[in-house]
Amino acid sequence: MPEKIFNVIANKQFPAASGRTIKSLNPANTDDLVGIAPASGMADGDLAVKAARKAFETWRLFPAPRRGEIIFRAAEALLKAKDELGRLVTREMGKILSEGLGDVQEAVDMAFYMAGEGRRLDGQTVPSELFDKDCKSARVPIGVFALITPWNFPIAIPAWKIFPALIAGNTVVFKPSSFTPVCAAKLVDIIIAAGLPPGVLNIVHGAGDETGEYLATHHDVDGVSFTGSTAVGEKLARVCAGKDISCEMGGKNPIIVMDDARLDLAIEGALWAGFGTTGQRCTAASRVIVHEKVYDRFLKMFVAAAKTLKLGDGLAKGTQVGPLINETQMNKVLSYIEIGKKERANLVLGGNRKKDGAFRKGYFIEPTVFADVKPEMRIAQEEIFGPVVSLIKAKDLKDAIRIANNVAYGLSASIYTQDVNKSAIAERDLDAGIVYINAPTIGAEIQLPFGGTKKSGLGRREAGGRGGAIDMFTKWKVVYRDYSGRLQKAQIDKD
Ligand code: NAD
Repeated sequence: MPEKIFNVIANKQFPAASGRTIKSLNPANTDDLVGIAPASGMADGDLAVKAARKAFETWRLFPAPRRGEIIFRAAEALLKAKDELGRLVTREMGKILSEGLGDVQEAVDMAFYMAGEGRRLDGQTVPSELFDKDCKSARVPIGVFALITPWNFPIAIPAWKIFPALIAGNTVVFKPSSFTPVCAAKLVDIIIAAGLPPGVLNIVHGAGDETGEYLATHHDVDGVSFTGSTAVGEKLARVCAGKDISCEMGGKNPIIVMDDARLDLAIEGALWAGFGTTGQRCTAASRVIVHEKVYDRFLKMFVAAAKTLKLGDGLAKGTQVGPLINETQMNKVLSYIEIGKKERANLVLGGNRKKDGAFRKGYFIEPTVFADVKPEMRIAQEEIFGPVVSLIKAKDLKDAIRIANNVAYGLSASIYTQDVNKSAIAERDLDAGIVYINAPTIGAEIQLPFGGTKKSGLGRREAGGRGGAIDMFTKWKVVYRDYSGRLQKAQIDKD
């Protein structure tokens, strides 16, 4: 049965004022209607922002440790619902069940971590240069946040934004991807049920260019945290000038395999990072840059291993690669495969849509490998966001790092080598927000900042505490208190 879901504003459910709706389909079987969500417009957005603004006046004064207690209860409730939510992630988004459960676990981890931050929202106290005066800095909330998220981590990415935003004392209007509204609605229900006062967390469903852009540019929204494509992120950064905005965007992440690498490990890592989540991760490794001495052996072993991957419905036992999220995304990936062929890259595996038998109602593409890819080809430069991996040959470490860095993105990068000196050089010289040594480009943990350089990230980093999400959702206030009972002049009163 499809789930009928609503906007939730000030803890009450509302359909879109216009009555319009969006359908959410199971990408493995489009006969399965997962849910029907509101297609919201300006009036819905206004209502939500108004509720968030009103709630901000009391939520900002609510003791942060007590905000943390609510978030802690939300973490416990999410853990309890993990199995049900994980299945929903797979049904609505398509990733295989173990990954659906991982998506929920990431939200649980973030909730427990942020609950503790309620007692750690620290600033500094420093001595004054004057007598009888003290100086301190304190973190204060930014205000009303619009949180805009993609479909590929339909529970985890919203949680990465909602929990730190709330612990810091902000209130939220959340606009999830219109392809995964049911996951988002369930997440919000659980968090609100943990004890949030009305208006602190509101959800407004709808299309990106309509609902999303309206909320992000709303005059009464102070901050915007966006995760999604580079094109939309860069546009938002332009139209939201003057707001506190951070954007996490696309990637074209490389794995470097050196001639001294353990090839078995590198192949396992490249398979997981290239085809896990059907390549639909911002940190997916869509380029594998292999030292020329081991290139032929790597290619043979990698293709043999990729050939065995089982494509199918993520809920079916044994499936290793699920469907693409929707028809548009599937067609985009197919068009990149055509571009690769035209560029004369060597298609050595896959390349086709699967639509026979059990695949006929879903958006399935075979795991695809291009060999002999030149670094300047479009398939080696542009984000494809699908199960397509390009193998590129490099002469040595320097050449490999040059190829790795020579793209517009800089989210994550990895190197496989047994040589500690080479790993140190790669760590230093790879231009990416996250570098992995002897591990693939995916697998970030929530307690460290997450984000990229160049066209992968704008503004502050997500996740982590200080230096990451806590910085994203707070601003500094500096307070000087003079208890001398006379006018004292800094820099001037020296005697
Ligand atoms: P998208 O940019 O199409 O959409 C992301 C969100 O923005 C959705 O909620 C969408 O409705 C909304 N949106 C679209 N147009 C908008 C507009 N004009 N104004 C305001 N909001 C708008 O991205 P997607 O297809 O949902 O996700 C895939 C992309 O996300 C990939 O490029 C991927 O690399 C990126 N991504 C990045 C990270 C990261 O942390 N760097 C993580 C996951 C996904």
